[in-house]
Amino acid sequence: MAKILMANDKGIAEAVDALVAGKIVAIPTETVYGLAADARNEEAVAQIYEAKGRPSFNPLISHMASFEMAMQYAEYDERAALLAQHFWPGPLTLVLKRKKDANIAGNVTAGLDTVAVRVPAHQAARQLIKLCGFPLAAPSANKSGTLSPTTPQHVQNNMGADIPFILASGKCKCGVESTIIDVTGDTAVILRPGTITQEEVESLIGPVD
Ligand code: AMP
Ligand code: MG
Repeated sequence: MAKILMANDKGIAEAVDALVAGKIVAIPTETVYGLAADARNEEAVAQIYEAKGRPSFNPLISHMASFEMAMQYAEYDERAALLAQHFWPGPLTLVLKRKKDANIAGNVTAGLDTVAVRVPAHQAARQLIKLCGFPLAAPSANKSGTLSPTTPQHVQNNMGADIPFILASGKCKCGVESTIIDVTGDTAVILRPGTITQEEVESLIGPVD
C-alpha cells in the first residue's frame, strides 16, 4: 500500500522531499493522476517505467511550473508561444525541440531530440513543481494498458503495492488525458486527442494534421 499524503502544505512538503530524494510519487493533475519523478534524474525516472511496466521507447511528458520554466528545456516558435499563452496552465502538451543543453534525463524523452512539455492547471501540482524547482516527468499513474486513474483510490487499487506515495486531492476535473500537439514541423500535428479540440487549436494557429 502506498502512503496517502493529503494535498495540503504539509503533504505537499513531504511529496517534495520524496521527489528531491529520487523517489516516485503519484500526483493529482486536472486531467488524470500522474506518476511523477524528477525529470533530471535517470534512476528516478527508471522507477516510473518499472512500476508501470511501461516499454522504454514510450517517452514521458515533463510537467512544468510555468512557460518560463518550460522554455529552459525546449526551443519554441511563434505557434508554440501562442498555444502556450492561450492554453497554459491547462490540458495541452506541446512536443518541441529539446534544447541542446537541457538538463532532462535521456529516458524521459526515450532518446529523442524532442521534449513533451505541459504546465498543469491543478493548484497542488503547480505548487509541488514550483517548490521542487525542477520538471516532473509523469505518465498516468496506472499499470501500462489499464485505465487512467482519476481518484487516489484508483491509483491505490491499481499500483499501490508498487509505489511509495500518493498525493491525494480528490477527483480529477477533466478525467481525460491532455491533448498532445507536435509543433516541431512546418504543419502542427495532433498526436493525441484530448480535452482541447482540434478546432480550438486551429482557431489559433491555422490548419493542423
Ligand atoms: P502518457 O504519458 O501515457 O500520457 O503518454 C505520453 C505520450 O506523449 C507518449 O505516448 C508519446 O506519444 C507522447 N510523447 C511524449 N514525449 C514525446 C516526444 N518527445 N515526442 C513525441 N511524442 C512524445
Ligand atoms: Mg497513460
